[in-house]
Amino acid sequence: ETIGENLRRTVERHGDREALVARSQGFRATYRQLWELTTQVALGLLALGVKKGDRVGLWSPNRYEWVVAQYAMARVGAILVNLNPAYKTSELEYALRQSGTSVLLLSRGFRQTDYRAMVEEVRPRCPELRTSLVLDDDWERLGAQGKAVSENTLAEREASLQFDDAINIQYTSGTTGFPKGATLSHHNVLNNGFFIGETLRYGAEDRVCIPVPFYHCFGMVIGNLACTSHGACMVIPAEAFEPLAVMEAVQAERCTSLYGVPTMFIAELDHPRFGEFDFRTLRTGVMAGSPCPVEVMKKVQARMNMREVTICYGMTETSPVSTQSFLDDPLDRRVSTVGRVHPHLEIKIIDAETGAVQPRGAPGELCTRGYSVMLGYWNNPEATQGAIDPAGWMHTGDLATMDAEGYVKIVGRIKDLIIRGGENVYPREVEEYLHTHPGVSEAQVIGVPSEKYGEEVMAWVRVKPGVTLTESELVAFCTGRISTFKIPRYWKFVEEFPMTVTGKVQKFRMRELSVAELG
Ligand code: ATP
Ligand code: MG
Repeated sequence: ETIGENLRRTVERHGDREALVARSQGFRATYRQLWELTTQVALGLLALGVKKGDRVGLWSPNRYEWVVAQYAMARVGAILVNLNPAYKTSELEYALRQSGTSVLLLSRGFRQTDYRAMVEEVRPRCPELRTSLVLDDDWERLGAQGKAVSENTLAEREASLQFDDAINIQYTSGTTGFPKGATLSHHNVLNNGFFIGETLRYGAEDRVCIPVPFYHCFGMVIGNLACTSHGACMVIPAEAFEPLAVMEAVQAERCTSLYGVPTMFIAELDHPRFGEFDFRTLRTGVMAGSPCPVEVMKKVQARMNMREVTICYGMTETSPVSTQSFLDDPLDRRVSTVGRVHPHLEIKIIDAETGAVQPRGAPGELCTRGYSVMLGYWNNPEATQGAIDPAGWMHTGDLATMDAEGYVKIVGRIKDLIIRGGENVYPREVEEYLHTHPGVSEAQVIGVPSEKYGEEVMAWVRVKPGVTLTESELVAFCTGRISTFKIPRYWKFVEEFPMTVTGKVQKFRMRELSVAELG
């Protein structure tokens, strides 16, 4: 099944139900209205001469047009190129050139930046870019142009599409360095979205608050596709993450499910107005994207009424989800592990050197195989070969353990593992312990070079508002509770961490900044 066929079935079943709400734009649409809009835009894309397999860029924060364009592009078989709303010109140019984007849909701008000026700046260096349209200004015109194209032409195009056609180039977050373009098919992302909806028991009565960016698979798949494949409603609280807008949206829209990366939930829980909001309608939700501290999971479960909150683990290259904690898993497993393998997928944990499967409980590299594995990195066969082995296993670069019952814990990224004097220090373990300190709002642990030990442990700590904490208090808090070699040698108190726009802490940036500071 293609994404368009799947949406059509949902429209047949749930046409009159609300499909999409964009609060900051005052926009609401039922499934039937959403379908009509995607038809207009799909016809508009045909009028622009978009062919199957053409790359169409989408550069916008979370607006309703994003969702419409996503489905319209899938219906005409264009390959959606997701562009990060925070890109600067060099990154924009890289993505447009690397993907060979010919048509670009963009917003006027985002925060302080003027997208139109930036596009004009890179245009001379992007020879394949034929057309750019500003969603805020040209949206109606795109629909009007489509009137010249017959609906039959669209139907023919839709009938020519295959479930395993590429429909998406999605650049990874850039947490560990340069983003890579994962090429994904209808089959990859639609199935993943569908199974996520199944595991969360979504139905047409569910209303899902999506504050995570659409440009990333968390928003586009766990968000949009999980909803549309089950007839649930997508609620966009604001163009970009704002804790207050999220809490207002949950209450006003009676959301049943809420998403976020851990830092988003932390920002909501820590917000001075948190206590004013009513979370009674919430039932479930997803925390994902980076390590989910147990303490934060417990608070979300208890204080936000998300009884059935789950954790997903995955990556862009696997559409994204590979493991998830399921609703009937015992609570302690649900907050402390990333759950078990997702339906219809395989996972294994191997010794990265020898390739041998590790005994239960021993850390190793997590590998995934099945429908969710990307077609490959766009125009980069060497990187693809480095990531997917000949037997079809995607090597994730993440270290994990699996217990006897199949529950997986993510220990950290191979690249972030700290080796101090021959001892492995898993940053995650130290972070978890620091999060149990009542004054700590967020802690991130990295390795910094040391002549004596090879690497030393360093912690960056953000304290709760109004709290003062010293290095020696934190050392005392660790002493006798975690092994001496794991206790951070260096501490830095910060207001914020270097982050990707997906809300992930960039440890490689933390390392660069720390090395510069420590000299
Ligand atoms: P890049 O590959 O460009 O460095 P990235 O790996 O962060 O960036 P994504 O594909 O967005 O890009 O993120 C996938 C990664 O996020 C996983 O490989 C894993 O390290 C981390 N991750 C995702 N979910 C979880 C989770 N629930 N717990 C711990 N880590 C997670
Ligand atoms: Mg990655």
